[in-house]
Amino acid sequence: MSAMQLEVLQLGNPKLRRTARPVEDPTSREIQSLIDDLIGTMGQANGVGIAAPQVGIDWQVVIVASRPTLRYPHAPHMDPIAMINPQLTDISAEQVKDWEGCLSVPGIRGLVPRASTISVEYQDRKGHAQQEIFHDFVARIIQHECDHLQGYVFLDRVESTRELITENEYHKLVLS
Ligand code: ZN
Repeated sequence: MSAMQLEVLQLGNPKLRRTARPVEDPTSREIQSLIDDLIGTMGQANGVGIAAPQVGIDWQVVIVASRPTLRYPHAPHMDPIAMINPQLTDISAEQVKDWEGCLSVPGIRGLVPRASTISVEYQDRKGHAQQEIFHDFVARIIQHECDHLQGYVFLDRVESTRELITENEYHKLVLS
């Protein structure tokens, strides 16, 4: 069956604030079609990542798919990775502040401090255990998506409301 376009919940929907549950069997039909639907939904929305709670499903599943899009013109290319039950096992003391947005928080960008290097343990969509190290923008996406599994959005991480700007102002910044 082909991927379905799912509704992305927006800030204020209480389902975005739940804690997601661990997945027992990543290979189940339910999780496989969830992964396909998340990838399809993220692609349609020009996102570079998405988490299951954003479509109202409280399983620990995130998709990470950095690529240049209208929303992130300078993002690096990578094939989409489905991370099931991801755990940040190590995060660097070094943090970097950069702009983030979220499909669930339309029209707003914020400067968010994140660890520049992280180590992640997760199961892939075949159920195989993986451990990988990620840097910079991709590490940022993963930290953002893992936050969704705990009921956090990037607005909870900004240091000052003065570091929130509109999408229009963001595009002036990054395209200038
Ligand atoms: Zn988000």
